[in-house]
Amino acid sequence: MKQSPDSSPAWYALRRTLPPFRFEELLAELVEQLPRYGVDEVMILEDTEELFHGHPTPATAAASVRNLHRVREALAEVGIAYSLNPWITRGHADRGRGALPGMQTVVRADGSQETCIACPLCPVWRDNLRQVWAMYAATRPRALWIDDDIRDVGDDHECYCPLHLERFAKKVGHPVTRQQVVAAVFQPGAPHPWRGWWLDMRQDGTLEVMRLLAQASAGTPIGLMSSGARHHCREGRDWAAVAAALGDNLHSRPTMGNYWEWGPPRGLYFSQDSVKLTRHCLPPGTVDLTELESVPFSRYSKSVAFTFAQLALSFAYGARGAAINIFDHLGTPMQAEAHYGKMLGARKAFLNALAQRAQLPGSFRGVQLVYRKDAGRLMHLTPGAGSAALAGEGYPALEAFEAAGIPTTYDESAVMFLCGQQPRTLSDEEIGVLLGKGLFVDGAAAAILCERGFAAELGLVAAAPPTTLEQNGIISGETFSHPQFGGGPDLHMSAYLPMADYGAKLSQLQPLAHTEVVSHFFDPDMRPLLPAMTACVNARGGRVVVHAWDYASAIGPVGISFHSPTRQRQLHGVVRWLFHNQPPLLVSGDGVWPLVLRKDCQDGSLLACFNLSLDPWPGAQFELHLPRPPADIWILDPSGSWQPAAADAWQAGKFTAHCPITLEQPLVIWFNQQHRA
Ligand SMILES: [Zn+2]
Repeated sequence: MKQSPDSSPAWYALRRTLPPFRFEELLAELVEQLPRYGVDEVMILEDTEELFHGHPTPATAAASVRNLHRVREALAEVGIAYSLNPWITRGHADRGRGALPGMQTVVRADGSQETCIACPLCPVWRDNLRQVWAMYAATRPRALWIDDDIRDVGDDHECYCPLHLERFAKKVGHPVTRQQVVAAVFQPGAPHPWRGWWLDMRQDGTLEVMRLLAQASAGTPIGLMSSGARHHCREGRDWAAVAAALGDNLHSRPTMGNYWEWGPPRGLYFSQDSVKLTRHCLPPGTVDLTELESVPFSRYSKSVAFTFAQLALSFAYGARGAAINIFDHLGTPMQAEAHYGKMLGARKAFLNALAQRAQLPGSFRGVQLVYRKDAGRLMHLTPGAGSAALAGEGYPALEAFEAAGIPTTYDESAVMFLCGQQPRTLSDEEIGVLLGKGLFVDGAAAAILCERGFAAELGLVAAAPPTTLEQNGIISGETFSHPQFGGGPDLHMSAYLPMADYGAKLSQLQPLAHTEVVSHFFDPDMRPLLPAMTACVNARGGRVVVHAWDYASAIGPVGISFHSPTRQRQLHGVVRWLFHNQPPLLVSGDGVWPLVLRKDCQDGSLLACFNLSLDPWPGAQFELHLPRPPADIWILDPSGSWQPAAADAWQAGKFTAHCPITLEQPLVIWFNQQHRA
């Protein structure tokens, strides 16, 4: 069975290691099984994970290269593409491995030194890498993938070695010590000028390595794995410069996280964001293949159902393909975990049909999130904060919206969300524009905006910097009472149950007289203590909602208490109001943890709804405002065929579906806008 090249909208790129001791057997298995799995490309990993020997050299790579030619030829016989993903550039972790002779390894901020991870400025390491990559490029892969160990993020990758200090000394004009640099970069409060310079210098070093790899690859398209754009704020990554360094026909592999299941499927909120945000950072035309990875392997790590959900999510959010890393790198045959291959083959038709629509040009609709690559440079730090504190903010906030059935987007929207220190990345002019539209701000962002003179336009006299719950008296919960926003009597939300983040903070809001109080905090006798959420129309005509919670600490990693059916009702109410009663999409139904998207394309709108809980949704109701009523509406069935929706399913801006929605069966709807003449 020979496949035609690029025939699959849902492109499967399997990442696979063929260790030398079992090479022939595993290559034969690829040729036999992959057409059944529907795999389109094999991304060979070299010298991987447990069987990693240390930095490959021209001498050690020679044997690999002979096998790589064999792989390319054997796969071509069955119409499957070959690409190459050398497992390391700088190195992921030491794991007892050593360095090349004369090589500089990373010196950490505390002065300790790595044994294997390379300093990106090291000339010995760079020269070796150039030679090895030229050998790899000569095997004619479809693309050569750089793994995310190229990152300059993390205690074991951020380097303060003599090479780094010497280069920085030239920048500041006098010798510097590691301790001086660390003290300046992580100075509490407003950033020291050295922080930006230090990040600039490190970014230059990374770009030099990327240019070197692009040159060594001699025209082979480069693929770049990345670790989440918020994370890369810690190194000040300039995405446009990265794309320019890596050359034309850039491929991207955004991490989807969730290497193993660590609870309910809630982690998929991260996956969808990583796909959207990484695409937002890179130039149009970048080919994205999501990173669907298990560590370790087998269903102990990741169920077949979750694996499918990650695939479906990749294609629903418009990815060109999925880079699938679900079989171990110890030489175990794929058929030892045959359930994965069976699922890949069985669900290909559904995923192809989904991908075909989702890859149409268009824009994602929802509440717009802010991402600024300079977040790490501008962040104010607390005493003792390290490099982790320089990461971009906003993840808990987007989870709050998505989990309430309100999609978020990085595309243009009439309503934006600002949280934490994000206002520090915006000029006064930019803030002015946002205040004239629809704006949702959390307590931390409101305090900064007030400090900068925007209190009245938020509908406030003042907002104090967030402090912990205990510092604000005895706060039992939040009551959603305002009928204009959908509130009513006895709609209470917890501020303080197990699984709440006990570090939760809130900002004391002082509303202006004309500002509406949407919800308030109450004490054990149900007496109102403080405003929790306010809404106002300001002098610019903009609508602003302020929520007193500091979202990062109130939702945080374990903030289950933030979420409830009442919270969903409250967020729906204010988002509907912010969009002047024309929200792009709100989903509700007999279930929790929804994940929903709307993408508007030229000929129609795609809607997809995932259920990230273990209880099936018996159906769902979607409130959406289309530019005109749809000509017809189609639902994608599990076999990959589009079926007409029931005639009465669409009524006055609401679409009602009566079919079960589970992790393994997301609901996909196409609202056709091509009206017959
Ligand atoms: Zn260094």
